[in-house]
Amino acid sequence: GDELLSDEVYLPDTYNNYPLCMQNLLTGLRNDSHLKYQGRQQLSLFLKECGLNVEEALKFWQKAFQQKYGLEEFNKNYKYNFRHSYGLEGSRINFKPWDCSTILNKEPPSSGMYHGCPFRDWNKVKLSGYLSKSKNYYTKEELSKYEVNTILDFKDKNDYMMCCTKYFELTKDTLPHNELITHPNLYYQRSKELDK
Ligand code: SF4
Repeated sequence: GDELLSDEVYLPDTYNNYPLCMQNLLTGLRNDSHLKYQGRQQLSLFLKECGLNVEEALKFWQKAFQQKYGLEEFNKNYKYNFRHSYGLEGSRINFKPWDCSTILNKEPPSSGMYHGCPFRDWNKVKLSGYLSKSKNYYTKEELSKYEVNTILDFKDKNDYMMCCTKYFELTKDTLPHNELITHPNLYYQRSKELDK
């Protein structure tokens, strides 16, 4: 199956396949050298499904935290948590990555937190700023005001999965069979398929 190595997580070609929620988490992680519990869960289970095995995951998170936590502290405070996500500790449940509904049913992030869905959690100024810098797949031009507004209209209707689907279709390609993005790993998978 698919494999993802710790050194590949931030590579532009890989990064470009992540949905906005995961890019947001990875940016937060890079800036803070840490993620709070919900963010760790959302991102680590996603990366696991992308093919990051437990050894690579521990390498990835330890390096990501190292500005703030030395190896000993990491092992003491966080190693168990990540191994637990892989079903190697405690109840040994093989946790599934969160789908969009699960993500949207959690408490929205407060300041210093990065979990959740940016189509819901970012205000319109921040979101439209980001969207208007993205490039249309066909024209290679930045998204027009009209295109940005088609996404923001879905935000007004609290239809965040449609925001994400529309964003995918404008910046990548149309999805097969009018598919709706309902899972971050589906976004990743479909985006990867377009690379082939
Ligand atoms: Fe992530 Fe789903 Fe929101 Fe897209 S709709 S950004 S995949 S939570």
